[in-house]
Amino acid sequence: MFNLILFGPPGAGKGTQAVKIAEKFGWKHVSTGDILRSEVAQGTPLGLKVKAVMEAGHLVSDELLIEIMESVFVKNSDVKGFVLDGFPRTLKQARELDVMLSKSGQKVTLVLALKVDEHELVGRLLTRALDQGRKDDTEEVIKNRLVQYHNHTKPLIDYYKEQKLFREVYGVGSIEEIFNTLSSTILEHQSIQK
Ligand code: ADP
Repeated sequence: MFNLILFGPPGAGKGTQAVKIAEKFGWKHVSTGDILRSEVAQGTPLGLKVKAVMEAGHLVSDELLIEIMESVFVKNSDVKGFVLDGFPRTLKQARELDVMLSKSGQKVTLVLALKVDEHELVGRLLTRALDQGRKDDTEEVIKNRLVQYHNHTKPLIDYYKEQKLFREVYGVGSIEEIFNTLSSTILEHQSIQK
């Protein structure tokens, strides 16, 4: 099993690259943002609970995310690998992920981070707001999401660096260029593992 975490700030291009990686390697793409947005769109009890939090650009509670991920792992026990996109986002989630994976004798295999500077991020997020009409892509909310990233998610870099799992790839360039760099880093890692 290859358990890949695709890491990076909002707007770094995780979603785009995660889909391509999952397709190339035959792994399951899990986007917690997509899962939550679909709950909101369907108006489920969970969706109703998280709607306002998401629209404000804040983080949904660790408890809910852990519940969601537990059910993802139970439902996909037969896959060859995961591309986790948007999870973990806090230290608590990272520790719980280790616990969840260890239940089936698994570990995080690699954390690949997309490095993009803040100025570029805000520009991209504002463009996406125009294209996709996501309610959490207004300037005010974008600022909140970047603050959440700095306060809660960035500390994960050290958590994974200490475990020697962290690799960084420059996230500016064409989608294909970045994808090729990510793919070769994964392939390199796979050959070391074997
Ligand atoms: P982004 O483009 O900011 O990376 P995502 O699509 O990954 O956005 O997530 C959108 C929103 O969903 C987040 O701003 C947050 O409210 C919620 N969310 C997604 N994943 C998590 C998580 N692991 N922990 C807490 N909240 C999350």
